Amino acid sequence: MSAGASPLVVAGAGLAGLCVALAAAPRPVLLVGGSAGSASALAQGGIAAALGRGDRPALHAEDTCAAGAGHNDVAMVSRLVDAAPDAVAWLAAQGVAFDREGADWALGREGGHGRARIVHAGGDASGQAIVDAMERAVAGAAHVTRLASDGLLALALSEGGAIAAVRLVGADGATRDIATPDLVLATGGIGTLFAATTNPLSADGNGLALALEAGAPGRDLEFVQFHPTALAVPGEGPLPLLTEALRGAGAVLRDARGEAVMDGLHPLADLAPRDVVAREVWRRRQAGNDVFLDMRSLGEQGLAAFPTAVALCRAHGIDPRRDPAPVTPAVHFHMGGIAVDADGRSGLPGLHAVGEVACSGVHGANRLASNSLLECVVAGRALGTRLSLPRDARIQAAPRRWVHPGAGTNAAALRALRDLLWRSMGPVRDDATLAEAERRLRVDPSLARTWQARLASRLLHAARIRRASLGAHHRADSA
Ligand SMILES: Cc1cc2nc3c(=O)[nH]c(=O)nc-3n(C[C@H](O)[C@H](O)[C@H](O)COP(=O)(O)OP(=O)(O)OC[C@H]3O[C@@H](n4cnc5c(N)ncnc54)[C@H](O)[C@@H]3O)c2cc1C
Repeated sequence: MSAGASPLVVAGAGLAGLCVALAAAPRPVLLVGGSAGSASALAQGGIAAALGRGDRPALHAEDTCAAGAGHNDVAMVSRLVDAAPDAVAWLAAQGVAFDREGADWALGREGGHGRARIVHAGGDASGQAIVDAMERAVAGAAHVTRLASDGLLALALSEGGAIAAVRLVGADGATRDIATPDLVLATGGIGTLFAATTNPLSADGNGLALALEAGAPGRDLEFVQFHPTALAVPGEGPLPLLTEALRGAGAVLRDARGEAVMDGLHPLADLAPRDVVAREVWRRRQAGNDVFLDMRSLGEQGLAAFPTAVALCRAHGIDPRRDPAPVTPAVHFHMGGIAVDADGRSGLPGLHAVGEVACSGVHGANRLASNSLLECVVAGRALGTRLSLPRDARIQAAPRRWVHPGAGTNAAALRALRDLLWRSMGPVRDDATLAEAERRLRVDPSLARTWQARLASRLLHAARIRRASLGAHHRADSA
């Protein structure tokens, strides 16, 4: 790192953090954390971009706003969809080998999209292919120092309330403080606060909790997306995902008698927006009826395009050529997060956020499928470029106040919290259940005063005060 220059600290090395780090050249960057346990690496479907014949960014924007129930920031949506074709070309230039059909992109279709618009790599192994290529690009970037085994533990504010330093913790538990005027949070989502989730264990909301604790405003915290087709298997870990692109290729949701579940419920049937499909699967399961994803019509050849999904099914004793796979809705994506402006600035000077931990309003009340990797690239590159000017370390403000997320729960209490949030803030909500969950968090001695409970309380509060249903936030008690 060049002497005298203040580093840009990027916490989180999923796709958003990797893009910020790469785009911030020539400024010295400390990239904290590894990408191995990220949601980005698990992504299956791919990246949405208007690249097909007859497709246009304006049509992509229409679908984005329809999925988001019109709650989207329209300017942010335009920025996202207009930049999408270039984002795909940029990733290809970084070495991502997207699947092709001759000279054209091979395009998949997912729920809420009016046409085939999803570029993918390695069939349904898109996330891993993208992360691998980005890791290679970052490894070759002289301005980036990787601290892959470290994690962000705390931040310090200056007298004026701006970011002044960060505290990192290494794999051996040792901590070190680093002075910086700029911290980018790219720490991902909150899925593991819920009992049923497709998210990796790293998606525990710690970055969001730290930012809120420091006084950065949150936004749209109640909007949580439920994926309708996680594989319904026992256990406490992340649930395997059966990508929506399977339904795009012809797979159908059926009940135990083989009847198609979505017929007549929405004009797009199995490709209706995720909240619509997830609620139907939830309702049926709450009533004690299993729901299955029937992939048999795809045949051997069709299934060959989904090696990840096929392997996940087989690992649980299901042969998708012959057996319909039992599915459940699961928390998949957080539309809400740290409130950021169009340039990724939070309400706290020097604190920036990007990717799933941030909320610019682009996803509205429900994210359109495959728009989040896109957001990581578009917003990540823009933020890195904005922060790329080297800053002189001599004008660095001194740290005055350290902010920590606070004590965490023990394993048993965390299990209880995850059940509580899944029951109260799942696909169908009502005030009485939300209020009871809030009360439990206050009175349960193993939960009260932990950072997870404080964050969960913020989510529950947001869900309580939005009394009307909107997008993925469905209130059974609203008119
Ligand atoms: C199974 C699955 C499939 C998906 N499929 C798609 C898809 O096909 N298309 C699409 O657009 N989206 C998809 N998504 C959503 C998408 O993958 C995520 O929204 C996106 O990857 C988020 O990227 P991110 O960089 O913000 O966070 P992540 O990729 O989750 O990266 C965050 C990183 O921060 C690290 N971290 C957390 N806390 C700290 C800390 N304190 N210090 C340092 N590091 C920290 C984590 O370990 C992690 O590596 C999918 C999600 C899942 C779970």
